[in-house]
Amino acid sequence: MELLKKRIQQDGVAVGSSVLKVDSFLNHQIDVTLFNEMGKEFQRRFAGEPITKILTVEESGIAVACIAAQYFQNVPVVFAKKQEASNLSKDVYASNVFSFTKNKNYTIRVDCKYLQAGDYVLILDDFLANGNAALGLIDLVEQAGGKVAGIGIVIEKGFQSGRKLLEEKGYRVESLAIVQQIQDGKVILA
Ligand code: 5GP
Repeated sequence: MELLKKRIQQDGVAVGSSVLKVDSFLNHQIDVTLFNEMGKEFQRRFAGEPITKILTVEESGIAVACIAAQYFQNVPVVFAKKQEASNLSKDVYASNVFSFTKNKNYTIRVDCKYLQAGDYVLILDDFLANGNAALGLIDLVEQAGGKVAGIGIVIEKGFQSGRKLLEEKGYRVESLAIVQQIQDGKVILA
């Protein structure tokens, strides 16, 4: 997606050789106009798929998913929670995820009411690195007896193993921009 690629080149900040910081439009400040274009593109790529729900994980995935959902037909957004809370039902699907950016494990949870057998779920997230967040979300869908329509990613880091892992397991991965390499502070896009 050219608009997104331009924005990454313009505003993306390399952190070492493996992390891309895009706080100015994706992870802290949000460019809603760009998000609308991303939402339309996700809808275009998954058009014709009978998607019943969009699933993401807090925090950055929520805005991506909500704006994209407006371009699908009556598709609710469910986001997995990372914190245990007294107001979260005890009846949850839960999965353990290793965080690439925080270098630790955490648990994601979705109330059993919001994922069901028969759901055909589009998973959306901001980044794909090694695929752990996506695998955790897939696990939640499959625990509920649902099926995964595909995984939509805003920025994939093609030099990490996420896509390979997900495709080997038979899942469709659609990324709006792919970073091929981060070298000497430069972000090289596919
Ligand atoms: P994975 O689970 O695929 O290893 O990593 C994906 C998750 O880690 C995403 O949900 C995202 O929040 C975070 N992440 C991984 N790499 C980056 C990165 O380079 N930049 C930012 N901003 N987040 C990242």
